[in-house]
Amino acid sequence: MEKAQHILEEYFGFPSFRPGQQAVIEYVTSQKNALAIMPTGGGKSLCYQIPGLALEGTAIVVSPLISLMKDQVDALSSLGIPATYINSTLSSEEFQERMQQLRAGRYKFVYAAPERFESPTFIESIKSINLSLIAFDEAHCISQWGHDFRPSYRSIVPTLAKLPNLPVIVALTATATDEVNYDIRRLLNIEDEHVINTGFARDNLSFHIVKGSSKRDFVLDYLKERPAESGIIYTSTRKQTDTVHQLLESKGYAAAKYHAGLSEQDRKQAQNAFIQDEKTIIVATNAFGMGIDKSNVRYVIHYALPMNIESYYQEAGRAGRDGEPSDCILLFSGQDIQLQKFLIEQSLMEEDKKTKEYKKLQAMVNYCHTHSCLQTYILHYFNDYSAVDDCGKCSNCLNSDNREDMTREAQMVLSCIKRMDERFGAGLTAKVLKGSRDKKVKDFQFDQLSTYGLMSQYTEKELTNFIHFLVAENILSTGDDRYPILKLTKQAKEVLQGRKQVWVQTGFARSTAAADYHE
Ligand code: ADP
Repeated sequence: MEKAQHILEEYFGFPSFRPGQQAVIEYVTSQKNALAIMPTGGGKSLCYQIPGLALEGTAIVVSPLISLMKDQVDALSSLGIPATYINSTLSSEEFQERMQQLRAGRYKFVYAAPERFESPTFIESIKSINLSLIAFDEAHCISQWGHDFRPSYRSIVPTLAKLPNLPVIVALTATATDEVNYDIRRLLNIEDEHVINTGFARDNLSFHIVKGSSKRDFVLDYLKERPAESGIIYTSTRKQTDTVHQLLESKGYAAAKYHAGLSEQDRKQAQNAFIQDEKTIIVATNAFGMGIDKSNVRYVIHYALPMNIESYYQEAGRAGRDGEPSDCILLFSGQDIQLQKFLIEQSLMEEDKKTKEYKKLQAMVNYCHTHSCLQTYILHYFNDYSAVDDCGKCSNCLNSDNREDMTREAQMVLSCIKRMDERFGAGLTAKVLKGSRDKKVKDFQFDQLSTYGLMSQYTEKELTNFIHFLVAENILSTGDDRYPILKLTKQAKEVLQGRKQVWVQTGFARSTAAADYHE
């Protein structure tokens, strides 16, 4: 381990390891396959770079993104470490030249896209040399339960099995749910005890949900306060990227834009302008960002709802990699849910996979409705229960002084759902509580229920918001169903029996009633 410490100081100029790094390095250098789960910015690269330097031979780093490879190789080269990348951007002369150098054992690190493993020349070459390790960066891409599954990543597995000189393997990711974690371990042959999970908390990030005002106005006001700071604004469609970008330019901001509809050259230019601080803001779809190591991003704003917590945390996590306080803001509008549902529906996924995606989307929506600490909500989603305290700085924690007891109202809602036989969604339940003369209410004779019109002082919109809140707090569940049917959970029974209280932020129903945005 002294050797690792020496490399850390001599090559990289850092005095000490970040949490988890040392353990991963220790496993890998003693030939134990390992999985490192660390938050974005946690320092995953060193987990394979230090063993790669400590061990003899060449390290192969499998990486899904071409832009990432070049940056990593440049960084290593600037430290005097022989490194290269092999991917589809090379000319055939460059490819031949690099393969020759590789076979001569000249490189300490070779970055390769997963598709490379389908090339016999590449495989024959790596078979013929001394390998130090194989690293799988962004290892969640190997699992079909991951949010960014790449079949080419998974098809490496049988090829690996045939390598006579298979070295130790290290997998790295920032997002691994239990299923993904299990898949990575199974496919790459990693023992349970060699998984290092540092927890997901990012103490320097403050999470915020913004509801009830115009998104456009919010962004303009927010930027006015910090004109010189660097930030990312994620949008959900290319069209929205263009619109927001245009708006910012018209107000005189130096903003770049990035989406998959632009030429590769334009994308590269936009990315570089942002990384080199020529443009302070980048407006982008989720095509932007994987592997981007820009340390001074002070805020990440999601202009629309992301499809799941995994993507959200990864994208939001691009803020504050330098450890300085940074904001992660999500602008919520109920209409955005429809777009995400549409995207799932028209995708080519198998039915059971679609059901899973709906469930993940529901967890994302719940995040927007919860009144609990947002950081804690995310950590619990990833089964990380290590933090004892709430973060104290997310929009919910900041609001927690202004709470009122709505246990009685919750009981009314719950008993209404019970009387409706737990077979309907939030919309119809709200109508019954409101006392609506809607045809469907009459058809089902819900106007005969004792709960009919019981909460008529609220609007239907307020009632639906309150129901969504109860779902977010896990007092109601919507099951795995596409058309969310409300069911009472164990916690609901406690509320009905008066053993559990329901606290909400003051004025909550009224303020979120305006949650429908105008663009
Ligand atoms: P990620 O986990 O997102 O891949 P990186 O490996 O890119 O993170 O590291 C993020 C930043 O943290 C980089 O700028 C890296 O140089 C820095 N870093 C990594 N390890 C250490 C350390 N032990 N001490 C100080 N800085 C570190």
